[in-house]
Amino acid sequence: MDLRIGHLYPDLMSIYGDRGNVLALTQRARWRGIDVETRPFTVGTAFEADWPDVWFFGGGQDQGQDIVGVDLAGANGAALRRSLEGGAAAFTVCGGYQLLGHEYVPENAPAIPGLGVIDVRTRAGRQRFVGNLVADTPDGQLVGFENHSGRTYLGPDAKPLGTVVVGHGNNGEDKTEGAVQGKIIGTYSHGSCLPKNPWLADRLLGWALERRHGAVRLIPLDDREEFAARDQAAAVARARP
Ligand code: GLN
Repeated sequence: MDLRIGHLYPDLMSIYGDRGNVLALTQRARWRGIDVETRPFTVGTAFEADWPDVWFFGGGQDQGQDIVGVDLAGANGAALRRSLEGGAAAFTVCGGYQLLGHEYVPENAPAIPGLGVIDVRTRAGRQRFVGNLVADTPDGQLVGFENHSGRTYLGPDAKPLGTVVVGHGNNGEDKTEGAVQGKIIGTYSHGSCLPKNPWLADRLLGWALERRHGAVRLIPLDDREEFAARDQAAAVARARP
């Protein structure tokens, strides 16, 4: 078996350790004897809709999102949408999450149209949400770090990834964190997120491998260190909300 990872805009949208999510998916696949290839897709490169099994889309500043928004409005956006409709999975963090929604409206700039493959809308607020983020999910706690001005609101087709325990999450109001729609997961968890939330990494791996290999049962890994790191980060977050 092999796995193909498409890393979206690594030169424009990768902050607060986001690249670690690609490393985590890669290593957890390799520990199971699965070959992995990662290709970057950015402005100026033609996106191959049929190549990736899973896309990773990190966060970024408003200026970077501006440039990326223009690119997603063209042929590359259409290819990405075809790929997701064709069964590829996607994991996206903060600014990338916002741009897979319908739109991101920065505080003092025109709205940036999004790809609209996740039923969410984001509008920047005055206060930045910065700090540790802990959310409860049906599969365990999700721990990360958030830094965003955007407030994201879910429409009926997107389900929250979790419920905020510490931090602000989507909008600092409705206690939701992130979103799940089909095989697309969005979160405000930088840090990077997947290394200390291995259950989420394995969910994405299962979805990704399914595209070309059918349903795959991943052999369990010894994640005691990962969960210890997560629990320690969660304890620090709770101690200093
Ligand atoms: N620029 C966006 C915001 O401020 C996203 C920030 C990020 O990716 N960390 O909300």
